[in-house]
Amino acid sequence: MRLMVDIARLIEEKTGRRPSAGIRLESLSNFRIGGPADHYFEAAAADELRTVVELASGSGYRHYVIGGGFNLLFDDAGYRGLIIRVACRGFIFEPKSSRLIAQAGTPLSDLTGYCRDRGLGGLEFLAGIPGTVGGAVYGNAGAFGCSIGDVLEEADLLDPGGKERIKARPADLSFAYRDSRLKKTREILLSAAFRAVPADKTKIGTCMDSYIALRTERHPSRDTAYAGSFFKNPLSSEGTRLAAGKLLEQVGAKETTVGGAAVFHGHANFLYNRGGATAADVRKLADLLKERVMDRFGIRLEEEVIFLPAEPGAV
Ligand SMILES: Cc1cc2nc3c(=O)[nH]c(=O)nc-3n(C[C@H](O)[C@H](O)[C@H](O)COP(=O)(O)OP(=O)(O)OC[C@H]3O[C@@H](n4cnc5c(N)ncnc54)[C@H](O)[C@@H]3O)c2cc1C
Repeated sequence: MRLMVDIARLIEEKTGRRPSAGIRLESLSNFRIGGPADHYFEAAAADELRTVVELASGSGYRHYVIGGGFNLLFDDAGYRGLIIRVACRGFIFEPKSSRLIAQAGTPLSDLTGYCRDRGLGGLEFLAGIPGTVGGAVYGNAGAFGCSIGDVLEEADLLDPGGKERIKARPADLSFAYRDSRLKKTREILLSAAFRAVPADKTKIGTCMDSYIALRTERHPSRDTAYAGSFFKNPLSSEGTRLAAGKLLEQVGAKETTVGGAAVFHGHANFLYNRGGATAADVRKLADLLKERVMDRFGIRLEEEVIFLPAEPGAV
C-alpha cells in the first residue's frame, strides 16, 4: 500500500521551493523517452539534496536520484514518486595536494575544460563523456582504458536515508568495470576529489582532442537520442572482455528495429530513438538482441543503460 505523504508540501516547507508536478521525463533523458513523474526537484546545493533525500526517505516516499540523464531509460508511464536531480555544481583545485574537488552535479565537461585550460593531467580520458560527476562515479564511467575510479582520491557520500555523511576512499568503493559500491548501497555522491597533476598543457589538449576525434568517428551525431553503449562488454570464458558491439553485429543487430528503436549503423552497441520510440520499443529491441546473442554464442549480455520502472519492482 502506498503511503499518503504530501511530499511536495514537506519539501516546500523545508526548502522554500515546491517540486514540479507531472514533468515529462523525456526532457531529462538523452534517450528523449519517458512519461510524467509525480514530482521533480532540482537540488542546487548539497544541503538541499540532503534535506530532500531525508524527507523522502524518512516518510517512506519513493524517490530516485539522477544526474544528467545520459545513462538512463525512463519508463513510458513516467515515475510514481519523486525524481531528485543533483544540480549542485562547481569545483576547486587545491594545488598543494593536486586535488580537483567537484560537487556531484558538475558536468564532466566542466572538469575536462578546466584541466585543459589549466594544464592538469589525469582526467583526459573523460573528455567527451557526457554526464555529471555523480553519475560517473556511480557507474565508474570510463574510456580508453581508464575509469573514473582510477583517478578518484576521496568521495563524500550521503547515506540513502539522507542522515549521515560518509567519507570513502577508492578502495572502499568496490570499483569494477562500470560498477561501484553505490549501485548496491544507493548511497548518494555529494562531492569527489580527483587526482589532477600539473602537466604540459599542449599535450593534455592534444590527448583530449584525439579522444574526442575518436568518439566523433565511432559515435552517432551529437543530436542522436541514445545513452552511449547499451550493453556492457561481457566477460569471455578466459576472463577477458569481449566487445558487445562485435557480437551484436554478428547477430544482425544493425538491421533490426522495433517501433521507433533502432541500432546505429556505425556501431551495433548503440541503440537509439530514431523518432517516436517508446521505452517498451527499446526494451523489446534489447531483449531480442540479447536472446540472439545467447542463442548464437551462449553469452548473456547485461544492460549498461539503467531502466527506471514507473512502479516499484516493475522490471
Ligand atoms: C554520447 C554518449 C557517450 C557516452 N560515452 C560513455 C563512455 O565513453 N564511457 C562511459 O562510461 N559512459 C558513457 N556514456 C554513458 C554516460 O555518459 C555515463 O554513464 C555518465 O556517467 C552518466 O552520468 P549522468 O550524470 O548522466 O547519470 P544519469 O544518467 O543521470 O544517472 C545514471 C545513474 O547514476 C546515478 N546517479 C547520478 N547521480 C548520482 C549521485 N550524485 N549519487 C549517486 N548516484 C547517482 C543515478 O541514480 C543512475 O542510476 C555515454 C553516453 C552518451 C549519451
